[in-house]
Amino acid sequence: MNIALARSVVGERLRLLAERMSFVTSRLKGMAHGESAEKCTPDHCAIQVDSDDEIGDSTRAFNQLIEALALSIETETAVRTFTEMLVSELDVHQLTEQALALLLQHTGADGGAILIEADGEIRVAASQGIGSAHLLANNDRVRSALRTERRHMVKLPEDLVVDGMLAQFRPREVVIDPVLHKEVVLGAVVLASGQGFSAEDRNRLDVFERGLALALHNALLYHRLQTLAALDPLTGAYNRRFGMARLREEFQRAVRLNLPLGILMFDIDYFKRINDTYGHLAGDRVLARVAKTARSVLREGDVLIRYGGEEFIAVLPAASLHDLEYVSERLRHMVEDLVLMDGDQAIRATVSIGATAYPDTDVEDDTALVDRADKALYTAKSGGRNRVVVT
Ligand code: GH3
Ligand code: MG
Ligand code: MG
Repeated sequence: MNIALARSVVGERLRLLAERMSFVTSRLKGMAHGESAEKCTPDHCAIQVDSDDEIGDSTRAFNQLIEALALSIETETAVRTFTEMLVSELDVHQLTEQALALLLQHTGADGGAILIEADGEIRVAASQGIGSAHLLANNDRVRSALRTERRHMVKLPEDLVVDGMLAQFRPREVVIDPVLHKEVVLGAVVLASGQGFSAEDRNRLDVFERGLALALHNALLYHRLQTLAALDPLTGAYNRRFGMARLREEFQRAVRLNLPLGILMFDIDYFKRINDTYGHLAGDRVLARVAKTARSVLREGDVLIRYGGEEFIAVLPAASLHDLEYVSERLRHMVEDLVLMDGDQAIRATVSIGATAYPDTDVEDDTALVDRADKALYTAKSGGRNRVVVT
């Protein structure tokens, strides 16, 4: 009789428990294999504790085990997603944007930024959910974290506003982590949370940042190598191959945005004579100086290309024929005024310049634009050199 009673009461509860367990198992498997976005939070997976006996104790222990397991699976999945992204992204901008999005998703932060330090300057590479992120670059705590190479955790009193942290939410805790690769500071991660960070959040942050440091190092290196491959070492101008690709991009952009695009082609006059008189090395110095002069005349978004031996193309986005006339004359004058000393000999040089612009002239593509500038340059040469022809 007793046995039958126990069976019907206890047996029923054990059956429910077993059913729950198989539901939880399948949900955990779904999480682990990334098949399901459904998490195993206590709300979903916990089994209701309805007694203080041994079955109740077992249920409580089971719930704790599930919670720990779910957290661990979640962390593993987060790290896997993060690592997959890191190894596949070499573009610094994309990398920092995506890394920040994942950091926010997996560390309980509500807003943040990734800063990069290069040549002593700190700039914001990505930011999300915070106002005036650019102020972070000059924030004392950020600077201090970079200088000391240590994590800064800031618990904020209710009324405190951190520069650059005016946000849609009121941060309770801010973490500022320098990103280091082989003891070299690459930048910093700044995350702000309205709730504060849990121990698990910080653990994940540590793991994420180690990966981020390596990926960021690679992306920065890749960027530097790409720049090196694109530049002519003597003049620092784009080499012809990369330069022409840049011109094509700029032309397409000008057409798309309906903006003007000017180019000027210039060539050093009687350069062969300079080489013959002062030697090839002196000729090289003249070339480098002319390129430097051209850069000083150009604006930041302009592109300088070494098109041939002593022939250059400057691409000036948004410049009209009228602008080109001014820039060309300025360049011509500045080169004319240059004096390069070779021992006690003064070397002087002049340039001839041909300039043209889209859409002032109805050139249909970048090649036609170059052709037209080339013809203008030829006219300047045959007209006596040291002159500008804009057409
Ligand atoms: P023009 O006024 O018609 O342009 O006459 P030019 O003498 O400048 O033109 P030409 O094309 O006859 O000669 C160009 C010279 O530039 C010949 C070449 O040896 C020299 N040159 C090309 N590349 C370099 C370089 O990297 N360094 C030096 N020093 N000379 C170079
Ligand atoms: Mg020449
Ligand atoms: Mg030439």
